[in-house]
Amino acid sequence: MSQIVIEKDRCKGCELCVTACPQQILGMTTQLNAKGYFYAEVAEPMRCIGCRLCCITCPDMAITMNTHGTVYHYFSY
Ligand code: SF4
Ligand code: SF4
Repeated sequence: MSQIVIEKDRCKGCELCVTACPQQILGMTTQLNAKGYFYAEVAEPMRCIGCRLCCITCPDMAITMNTHGTVYHYFSY
């Protein structure tokens, strides 16, 4: 099973991941992170299909995926 991890203090609240998710299971919190932004969270993790679109979409590399113990970072050069 895949587990999405959002590093909240990297998030700038752009909501691109929310739009990108085909399952519509990402949302924004009503709490502020260290940068002063409302950050993204996975509202229904059990419905995640592991497509990784959120990871690829995030411009701030705030989202990683843990699949069977392997953590995937996207566009982290
Ligand atoms: S991996 Fe796909 S289904 Fe899962 S939260 Fe990201 S965009 Fe949504
Ligand atoms: S795409 Fe990245 S920066 Fe934008 S809301 Fe989602 S996690 Fe935050």
